[in-house]
Amino acid sequence: KAQVYIYDKPFDGLPKEGDLKIVEEELKPLKDGEFLSEAVYLSVDPYMRGYAPFMKTGTPFIGGQIAIIRESKNSKFPVGKYCFGQFGWRSHTVSDGEVQPNEQLFQYVLPDFKGLSPSLGLGVLGMPGNTAYFGLLEICQPKAGETVVVSGAAGAVGSHVGQIAKLKGCKVIGIAGSDEKNKWLIDDLNFDHCINYKTDNIKHKLAELAPNGIDCYFDNVGGEVSSTIINQMNRFGRISVCGAIAAYNEKQVKANVVQPSVAFKQLKMEGFIVNRWNDRWFEGINKNLEWIQNGKLKYRETITYGFENMFHAFTDMLKGVNYGKAIVRVKSL
Ligand code: NDP
Repeated sequence: KAQVYIYDKPFDGLPKEGDLKIVEEELKPLKDGEFLSEAVYLSVDPYMRGYAPFMKTGTPFIGGQIAIIRESKNSKFPVGKYCFGQFGWRSHTVSDGEVQPNEQLFQYVLPDFKGLSPSLGLGVLGMPGNTAYFGLLEICQPKAGETVVVSGAAGAVGSHVGQIAKLKGCKVIGIAGSDEKNKWLIDDLNFDHCINYKTDNIKHKLAELAPNGIDCYFDNVGGEVSSTIINQMNRFGRISVCGAIAAYNEKQVKANVVQPSVAFKQLKMEGFIVNRWNDRWFEGINKNLEWIQNGKLKYRETITYGFENMFHAFTDMLKGVNYGKAIVRVKSL
């Protein structure tokens, strides 16, 4: 039975049960060039909330998945292989296998993960992993001895960014929403310090933990937290603006003034979307895989079981229940 989640009612604040509805889909027989895949792992990501205002209601909800190819009339997508596909929240997909030039990563057979779980293709060996890799190294260009701050530190992207910054010889300060998350980052992932943005005074803590100031900031959250950090940066600091999860559920964006710091300290602040590095996609995956194999990069997944529980997995991620990458595992497989 093929099922798909439809974006039924526009989100208003935190998405509510009933905003998405599951409907059954009929699968047509395959034509030449097409293949049929079955979802095994589905991704829930913050961008889905951020992108929702631009989506039409009545259409399938967007998202990536790792699927197994069940039938194929396309030699590039052989039966039995795992593929990544930007197929939406669907249990089964018939795809034409065609990829437009600007969408070369819409679907691809997973490269060899050397025995690691294919689910990592949604996280550390997929889009979030490449976001960390390129977004930190290309935009912040951290140098040994510098101080790097990362917000959203215990999530898929943030936990990865902090570890790469450590590999580059930086001092790393993470900002996350609970003491348990911060303990994990320090004890297991080698972060130097962490701040709990819900209970700590970020300004005072940063002054104490980063007496030499902040050189690089990898911004996953936006809002007040980011303004406080940016206002404490060193001259010629670099800010990689990755996301603004603090704003995605807000009805009105509050004004935060960072321009005086950006100007007076001559900061470089640059936003990015990870598909900027589509032509280097597999370089990122291979580097992250190599770091995992050498024991230099750790990852964690928070798994929810059942296609029917996807909506809960999504809102749990928005509420911060996840450590590392939030994914959904289809039960029957
Ligand atoms: P995460 O795994 O980090 O999950 C989201 C986390 O955000 C939660 O666990 C929660 O942790 C935190 N959070 C939720 N609400 C708030 C809030 N109001 N203030 C601060 N933190 C909050 O997700 P990802 O790693 O997948 O994504 C992280 C960021 O990167 C997002 O902003 C996303 O949009 C962006 N992104 C951008 C890409 C790009 O190409 N530019 C690509 C991929 C991701 P906590 O307990 O700490 O609150």
